[in-house]
Amino acid sequence: MIKFLDLALINKRFENQFKKEFEKFINSGQYILGNQVKQFEEEFASYCGTKYCIGVSSGLDALQLIFEAYKILGKLKDDDEVIVPANTYIASVLAISHTGLKPVLVEPDLKTYNIDVAKIEQAITTKTKAILGVHLYGLLYNVEVLETLAKKHNLLLIEDSAQAHGAIYKDERKAGNLSHAAAFSFYPTKNLGALGDGGAITTNNDELAAILLQLRNYGRVSAYKNDLKGFNGRLDELQAAFLRIKLECLDADNDKRREAAGFYLDHISSDHIVLPSIKDIKQHVFHLFVIRSKRRDELKAYLQARGIETMIHYPVPIHKQMAYREFLEYKLPITEQIHEEVLSLPLHHLLSNSSLQKVTEMVSIFK
Ligand SMILES: *Cc1c(COP(=O)(O)O)cnc(C)c1O
Repeated sequence: MIKFLDLALINKRFENQFKKEFEKFINSGQYILGNQVKQFEEEFASYCGTKYCIGVSSGLDALQLIFEAYKILGKLKDDDEVIVPANTYIASVLAISHTGLKPVLVEPDLKTYNIDVAKIEQAITTKTKAILGVHLYGLLYNVEVLETLAKKHNLLLIEDSAQAHGAIYKDERKAGNLSHAAAFSFYPTKNLGALGDGGAITTNNDELAAILLQLRNYGRVSAYKNDLKGFNGRLDELQAAFLRIKLECLDADNDKRREAAGFYLDHISSDHIVLPSIKDIKQHVFHLFVIRSKRRDELKAYLQARGIETMIHYPVPIHKQMAYREFLEYKLPITEQIHEEVLSLPLHHLLSNSSLQKVTEMVSIFK
């Protein structure tokens, strides 16, 4: 069986280093917001090229804390509208709802699967105050246009970078440094994954960073002095220690993913499927390798029967979820088509050449 993703294999490589860190961790007696979180924050900020990194408990919390912080700063208020792509993972939209803001779903582009920049302006109203861009599947959204639109309409631009650790725009700026504030997830399956939950916020804004540091820790400014109604949203100390070890390999791992994706792109040949269209491979870290087929379900079953595990990201669009029944009437044909046709092939940085070849061969001979 070729597994879609082999997390045990991926983490096995670091087992000895993890064990050493764990032993130091037990003996340190410092289990919450200690030196590991602090050092990881410095290292990840430096990796992303931002002034600040604030370690938090998950990707969803990262997004929520960003919105909460902007409310405290007076840049957002209840019922303000936030533009977000309709075919993102539901967490992007949940963060908007949970902070009292209103998500406005915009159709994606069928080529990139990211937000269709031609459809953003028609969604902007007097209540629109922010755009939440998502680098879906590991591919940067259209940075140039989103930056221009945000400036033109005086909107906050926030990045959901949960799938794009390390993606680079024009050889100069990385995911996390393409907006006013960015949210990362370190959920185990992500390109930089912890051995549990974790997340981070990156930003260059001093005021925002100061608020976020308080908000993630009960709103406290110092022991028993709380200026804000905060949360418990801290990055776990042990996860930070693991993440520091894995961060060192992130660029090399992303390059391996690009190589594997390049193999699929060069060798899969079929009239039944649409491969991802890539202009600048550095802007993509291939969190997922997503193809499309009109006969997606048949192809999935065909590959499964031949020992190849695939997944669907995502099978049910947000506006068809019961959690968002208020959107049930929405007509989002491109989003719906994507959800009906996409299939994610096995791809990670340790996928063997023989597995790549087998997947390529099986997808190509599917008739
Ligand atoms: C994983 C993910 C999140 C949520 O991250 P968690 O750490 O699981 O809370 C948010 N947005 C996107 C696009 C994601 O892929």
